[in-house]
Amino acid sequence: MTKNRNTTSIETQLAHDDRHAEGAIAPPIYQTSLFTFESYQAMVDRYRGDVTQAIYSRVDNPTNTVLHEKLVLLEGGDAALSFSSGMAAISNTILSIVNPGDRIVCIKNVYADTYRLLRGLCSRFGIETIFVDGADVAEVGRSLSGAKLLYLESPNTWMFEEQDLKSLATLARANDVTTIVDNSWASPINQSPLSLGIDLVVHSATKYISGHSDTVAGVVVGGAALVERIDQTVRPYLGASLSAQDAARLIRGLRTLPIRIQRHHESGLTIATRLAARNDVVRVCHPGLQPKKSSCLAGYGSLFSFELSDAIDIPTFCDALELFHLGVSWGGYESLIVPAEVSLNQAGENNAAVDFGVPPRMIRLFVGLEDPEDLWRDLEGAFSAATKKLVINTQ
Ligand SMILES: *Cc1c(COP(=O)(O)O)cnc(C)c1O
Repeated sequence: MTKNRNTTSIETQLAHDDRHAEGAIAPPIYQTSLFTFESYQAMVDRYRGDVTQAIYSRVDNPTNTVLHEKLVLLEGGDAALSFSSGMAAISNTILSIVNPGDRIVCIKNVYADTYRLLRGLCSRFGIETIFVDGADVAEVGRSLSGAKLLYLESPNTWMFEEQDLKSLATLARANDVTTIVDNSWASPINQSPLSLGIDLVVHSATKYISGHSDTVAGVVVGGAALVERIDQTVRPYLGASLSAQDAARLIRGLRTLPIRIQRHHESGLTIATRLAARNDVVRVCHPGLQPKKSSCLAGYGSLFSFELSDAIDIPTFCDALELFHLGVSWGGYESLIVPAEVSLNQAGENNAAVDFGVPPRMIRLFVGLEDPEDLWRDLEGAFSAATKKLVINTQ
């Protein structure tokens, strides 16, 4: 990184790397599965750990190392690892901590596949999970005695409820419970869980860190000992490493992360505020519109949900949109929409949204980098098209 790493801002540090080979300004993509040794002795030295040369790209690649250094700059902590998806980062991290017979405490309305991992695979291996209201610090506190892991995602999926990470981290430490936060929504720009006492931060880097809807990736950042445990006991054997090509795409995404997040913050808040003022919107779930409690967020992501009144026909509303595409995922340049009623019908069993009572008329919006006035006109057009004819419009 730059020599002035302690005196320059994060934007500057993301824009600068250490000097690369041949003076390349972008990090070289080491498109190689293995790395060779000059001599028998050089190989011995590497296996002894006397030198740090990469051996094999499932374990280590210099392009990924550049990414990891930048992630440590952004999130704090000592070390980072990258994976071939957010779920790989989440599953590797959880499995490095728990053993059969252990108990996990997890917040309600966690990301759906995290829920299925805990309810399915983890329980098959004798690891029990209890789900608690993450907004209720006292309830989480009561559940921690005897637990091994507290898994948080702030704000959570569908309902976008924040957790008080600082208080929960303190309670977890007092109970000798390791903490993980999924920080994908806030991004490292708007929330710094490690500075609040959380042990490990995971991201679906598919979302804001990549930022261009062309890469599936995950990362974890934390203290040296916990990250080393993931790296030594789980990661090489599950084998879900991130390719150097994808690591380079994430480094490129990070260059513009602060400026993109600023735009997402502003546009998301603008659209959410206007939706909340409409009679045909029952409620808007966006942390920026909730009564101000103490918050760990320095700004907001642009993924949020709202509930449509009975006056609006949901399929017509979705089909009338021209700029918001129907599609899962988020965090790229383009605006997206997911209706809960479709998501709720998905393979019924082990569906967090069903189990925790997400209202069926909820709509999830992701506000992209387009002009927010264009997006608002698109939404207004869809409201007009989808207003049921027999209902008197009270607006
Ligand atoms: C998408 C997502 C994940 C899973 O990440 P993948 O990259 O799809 O594996 C985890 N957590 C949250 C909050 C997400 O939005």
